[in-house]
Amino acid sequence: MLAKILGISVACYTMQETIDFLLKRLLNQQKTFVVTANAEIIMLAQNNKEFNRIITKEAELVLPDGAGVVLAARYLGYHMPERVAGCDLVSEILKVAADQNLKVYFLGAAPKIAQKASELSIEKNPGLKIAGVRDGFFSDADVQDIIDAINASEADILLVALGVPKQEIFLNQYREQLKPNLLIGVGGTFDVMAGNVKRAPVFMQKNNLEWLYRFLMQPSRFLRILAIPKFIFKVFCSKLLDKQ
Ligand code: UDP
Repeated sequence: MLAKILGISVACYTMQETIDFLLKRLLNQQKTFVVTANAEIIMLAQNNKEFNRIITKEAELVLPDGAGVVLAARYLGYHMPERVAGCDLVSEILKVAADQNLKVYFLGAAPKIAQKASELSIEKNPGLKIAGVRDGFFSDADVQDIIDAINASEADILLVALGVPKQEIFLNQYREQLKPNLLIGVGGTFDVMAGNVKRAPVFMQKNNLEWLYRFLMQPSRFLRILAIPKFIFKVFCSKLLDKQ
């Protein structure tokens, strides 16, 4: 089932259903472009036409990455079972990749971060095959070489950590050229995996306060956090006007 939130269709999947869906598509060699959506991303889609088209028309799966998205879906009357956070999704995908002998390519984050994240993920998931690693600070002139390297690596899964909306624009622009069948924008996940950025304590994650922790740890995110009250207001109005 899909929950329509401010024009964006978000999958009402549990983590397990998400993994089952993605694995089935991987095994059937179907290309899947995944966007993990939080309130900020849904607000960006309201104001940025290109991003709106990507998230509404191009992505095969939009997941409820943020607590705000889950709460909004429930407020609008949908059965949204749980949050499927990008970070947790990546951990689960790496487990499945190790089990199923699927190769993963890490693209993005600062130099050495993706490398460290990939090394730690092998420690956690013995047998995991890393197809390749490349940092996310490159110029347009490097893009073709990067695509060629990803394709030559025979990766099945491509994790792209360039931040929103850069990673979604990149994946959408090159999806036809890219051979991996699973393409996911993963934001700051490599920083978390490498231990560079700490995730909120579990009690904050469970109480829908991860956004607050991220803000306290990185006050430079202030302008981005402002999207949350705007999102709440717009969702409230959309229900009032019955216009989702
Ligand atoms: N990043 C990158 N290339 C760029 C800009 C950003 O690789 O040109 C990386 C950055 O180092 C960080 C990630 O993209 O690892 C963005 O993290 P953030 O937590 O801001 O993700 P978001 O909240 O946008 O999903």
